[in-house]
Amino acid sequence: MDLNYNTEDLSFRDQVRSYLETNLPADLKHKVLQHKRLHKEDYVRWHKILAKQGWVATGWPTEFGGTGWSATRRHIFEEECARAGTPPILPFGVAMVAPVIMAFGNQAQKDYFLPRILNCDDWWCQGYSEPGSGSDLASIKTRAERVNSLEGDHYVVNGQKTWTTLAQHADMIFCLVRTDTGVRKQEGISFLLIDMKTPGITVRPIIMLDEDHEVNEVFFDNVKVPVQNLIGDENKGWTYAKYLLGHERTNIAAVGRAKRELQFLKRYASEQQKNAASLLSDPIYASKVAVLEIELMALEITVLRVISQDSGRPGPEASLLKIKGTEIQQRLTELMMEAAGPYSLPFDAAFLDGESEHSIVGDDDAAPLASYYFNYRKTSIYGGSNEIQKNIITQMILGL
Ligand SMILES: Cc1cc2nc3c(=O)[nH]c(=O)nc-3n(C[C@H](O)[C@H](O)[C@H](O)COP(=O)(O)OP(=O)(O)OC[C@H]3O[C@@H](n4cnc5c(N)ncnc54)[C@H](O)[C@@H]3O)c2cc1C
Repeated sequence: MDLNYNTEDLSFRDQVRSYLETNLPADLKHKVLQHKRLHKEDYVRWHKILAKQGWVATGWPTEFGGTGWSATRRHIFEEECARAGTPPILPFGVAMVAPVIMAFGNQAQKDYFLPRILNCDDWWCQGYSEPGSGSDLASIKTRAERVNSLEGDHYVVNGQKTWTTLAQHADMIFCLVRTDTGVRKQEGISFLLIDMKTPGITVRPIIMLDEDHEVNEVFFDNVKVPVQNLIGDENKGWTYAKYLLGHERTNIAAVGRAKRELQFLKRYASEQQKNAASLLSDPIYASKVAVLEIELMALEITVLRVISQDSGRPGPEASLLKIKGTEIQQRLTELMMEAAGPYSLPFDAAFLDGESEHSIVGDDDAAPLASYYFNYRKTSIYGGSNEIQKNIITQMILGL
């Protein structure tokens, strides 16, 4: 198996690199590299810049406006974006609901929603989890009852979603809802697209450990949803939900970002002093960094091996990449905190939000690190917790 890039891949990489050098706005790059908070307008701005270039939908076929790139090219592109410090393209529209619409939606849904997703005209969020239904997702209780009426058939939705990322900005939510209670739990679920402006929807913030407003509770109180917003067949939503979850885990290893953060960690640790020498030359600290770097190199090779098989749809190996990738991301944040020591402790919201140029602690690199550390506790929980990924590996790979 040859895991090296060929000449065309290398020239593609150069093309992406030079595009990013010219088109990534300096203020966005600064925010990303300095671990500052990104706001809605930051994500939308970068999305629209990439949309002009036709590079937003790297996993879509060209017939829908995607790049049609191979898995290797997508990997190179993601690596280069991470290296340059671009804001991420949020997955909820482009990488989650769009593949479901392409595979199971009708023509009208494809024609309406896909161009809007490409151009970021709608901000999407994901309405899967509910209180009591996270890992056991098929147990969801949010109810959708079909009503036939003269003004048009519709569903009436009642219930609650939780942990809904960035729902406070959302125009649309894709939801799993229960449409039949008298069958096996997986067989009574449907997949609905719901306009967040519909009367009866309430969004309440959940403030996380880093004191940021990233996730929400979303309540549905007699929300009327036109039947035209049902994806595929009623009660077949579980099939579509699983299809989407496979896509959710593809880039979750985020090797490119981890490589960039490792460089930050090494640079930062080399600037800190311990016993009148650089922290990075301290044998105990250096060995921790070395172990992490080796783990990251092993993960990168594993990602390249998975990509070289290019099977189209991610298999159970995506679970393995998710576990390892998130463990490495969390370890990086731990070592950053260790290097910064007490300088990472003050919580300087104005600095994090870009409202003040310098941090109150006098070390601009250190100030966001506690926030970053706390925020990254989420990575081993979302997208299917790491324990659930281990269950998948034991069943699907080890055959236990
Ligand atoms: C920051 C963040 C953002 C999120 N964003 C979204 C979003 O936008 N949309 C959305 O729908 N959801 C979202 N989620 C929800 C996420 O998918 C769930 O938190 C996750 O699936 C776990 O479910 P739970 O929180 O209900 O925990 P539970 O399922 O109650 O699990 C609790 C603990 O038990 C373990 N556990 C559960 N079952 C098993 C088992 N069978 N074997 C071994 N261990 C088990 C879990 O690993 C976990 O450690 C988000 C979560 C977070 C933290």
